Amino acid sequence: TSQMRTLADMARYHAAVRGTETAFEFEGRSTSFAGFDAATSRVAQALIAEGLKPGDRIAYVGKNSDHYFELLFGAAKAGVVMAPVGWRLAGPEIAYIIADTRARLLFVGTEIADTIAAETGNLPAVERFVAMEGSANGWTNYETWRDAHPAVDPELPTKPGDVTLQLYTSGTTGHPKGAMLTHGNLLDGRTEAAASDDPRLQWCKWDDSDVSLVAMPVAHIGGTGWGIIGLYNGAKGIVAREFDPFKVLDFIERDRVSKMFMVPAALQIVVRQPRAREIDYSRMRNILYGASPIPLDLLRECIEIFGCGFVQQYGMTETTGTIVYLPPQDHDPAGNQRMRSAGLPMPGVELAILGPDGEHLPVGEVGEVATRSAANMAGYWNLDEATKKTIAADGWLRTGDAGYMDADGYLFIHDRVKDMIITGGENVYPAEVESAVYGHPAVAEVAVIGVPDPTWGEAVKAVVVPKPGMTIDVADIIAFARGRIAGFKVPKSVDVIAALPRNASGKILRRELRAPYWEGRERQVN
Ligand code: ATP
Ligand code: MG
Repeated sequence: TSQMRTLADMARYHAAVRGTETAFEFEGRSTSFAGFDAATSRVAQALIAEGLKPGDRIAYVGKNSDHYFELLFGAAKAGVVMAPVGWRLAGPEIAYIIADTRARLLFVGTEIADTIAAETGNLPAVERFVAMEGSANGWTNYETWRDAHPAVDPELPTKPGDVTLQLYTSGTTGHPKGAMLTHGNLLDGRTEAAASDDPRLQWCKWDDSDVSLVAMPVAHIGGTGWGIIGLYNGAKGIVAREFDPFKVLDFIERDRVSKMFMVPAALQIVVRQPRAREIDYSRMRNILYGASPIPLDLLRECIEIFGCGFVQQYGMTETTGTIVYLPPQDHDPAGNQRMRSAGLPMPGVELAILGPDGEHLPVGEVGEVATRSAANMAGYWNLDEATKKTIAADGWLRTGDAGYMDADGYLFIHDRVKDMIITGGENVYPAEVESAVYGHPAVAEVAVIGVPDPTWGEAVKAVVVPKPGMTIDVADIIAFARGRIAGFKVPKSVDVIAALPRNASGKILRRELRAPYWEGRERQVN
């Protein structure tokens, strides 16, 4: 595996070592590692024939498909950078990101074809649209485009430091930003973790019988990054077109999935299926989850149902995904405290907690989480200022998340620094208030925000979604919270709402909840 320094190497290596085994399965279509390698060579030749040069971008917007991975690895063979774009965004948001990539070639999934057709006026740089299935709007069909070129590996010299993937952040705190990820970002560190004898890193080990489920969208690191990890390890990858809880259970049962990554919001939907309690999970080895906080009750329920090794993942697009992991050994439902932690740094990852002036804070103190490792992105695409603000000259990357480390080196994530509420000079982290309110029997979901207040600067407000058929008694919610957290953290007001605004990754959009209260004012964030 040390022979795999780039994505291009990965395609070649597995073709040589396990050519006839299955690389991907997608809706009845099965591709061997040799077939995958050949397809990526055709893609590379097609891109070169289009006049694309190393460092140029192509963009993909569509649901998940095995063909997306062919494009990604084929682009890598041609030195071309792939930028996948989230299909669940609104048309103008999609157009904004595609325009930002400056791609001349755009690959479009069937379901999104009409949206893109309506946005063509906003995509002046795109010279050719390729339809992933069929030939919507008269666009070239992907397979036709690919197969017009020979399966001859161009064997361009690609280096581990070359950018190969441009992933946009989820846009939870503002406009999505294009994180430029290199081959090295994606692959360095994997070998070290997989070779480790540390029992806490056993989940990084894969064998030939492993089957991985790619059910999260490829526009995010939890989709593309997870797909790459499975392929890196020579596992069979089951690609789900989109997240569908019923199909997830089908895949687990029929395809004997042994490893999968899912965000907490998706896990919650899966375990709510009555069928979730009837399935045989004996083949499941690890379920990895992360990207947003997980309610403890949900985590306990998942452990009870799936009975496999759970691993929390903390990271971000800018760190090529996971930099901190909570191993199965720390998922003892009785050991409450550890289960609230995001975990330990991956091998080769440095962590620090920074104070307001960038100083390193001691154990137990809350500050901004910073990290340094080979997984840190090369920078943001076309955003030099933002890159400089995020990554210091000495390589430390500021995550924008608030948190602290305990004496054993476990990281506890509080919240986004930007979501912290300063009320009467006291710092309040929404998550702490949310978990206090979450325990109330009438509350299905809750988000806590800061709203302007003439006396306190900001006041703590809870926005709650009632459980079906329940009504919310505001005074009762406040009294409930008062019994559980310090007085200054208790919500001063409670709003009731039908559903919380979330993005495609299931993250709560606190900025949207805040907006109506802050209209016409600037919210101070440090
Ligand atoms: P944007 O940067 O555009 O505002 P985003 O930060 O949500 O969007 P991502 O890179 O997809 O975009 O998400 C990374 C963030 O997700 C982290 O900074 C952190 O806030 C949150 N996160 C990731 N893993 C965890 C975890 N295990 N627990 C809690 N929060 C997590
Ligand atoms: Mg972010």
